[in-house]
Amino acid sequence: MTTRRSLLRTGMTALLAGAGLGRFGSAIAAGAGRFEITRTDAEWRKLLRGDVYEVMRRSGTERPFTSDLLHEVRTGTFTCAGCERDLFASHTKFESGTGWPSFWQPLPGSVLTQRDTSFGMVRDAVECSRCGGHLGHVFDDGPKPTGLRYCMNGIALHFRPASA
Ligand SMILES: [Zn+2]
Repeated sequence: MTTRRSLLRTGMTALLAGAGLGRFGSAIAAGAGRFEITRTDAEWRKLLRGDVYEVMRRSGTERPFTSDLLHEVRTGTFTCAGCERDLFASHTKFESGTGWPSFWQPLPGSVLTQRDTSFGMVRDAVECSRCGGHLGHVFDDGPKPTGLRYCMNGIALHFRPASA
């Protein structure tokens, strides 16, 4: 798994160096491939709860319809469970019916995407641009205005309500 991820990362870095922008036009910071927050696997394992670690550092997927954030409708910001970076504004959340919290647009520069061909599918994996934590996948069957569906593991997100 580690080897595969490293290969993916290497490929992605080369791709980004050539393209400059990800497929979905996310702003890619100079020096893509290096994250502002880097920790060893052992550190992440200590820092994150077991099921959160599995999703965020092992690209796992939570069981659908298990996230409390599915029903979060307050105004606020969804942040990365690994580093608390702001990722999604509440007004971009929508009910996709999939059982995973879904958004049509991330905050500018907050996520990176990389091609994921595991399980015989071609998908675009989404990760936090600050800590590299795996968040979920993005598909092109979302609602207007972007037509994108960021299908996120709720366990990889925290929610911060807007201050009243
Ligand atoms: Zn993060």
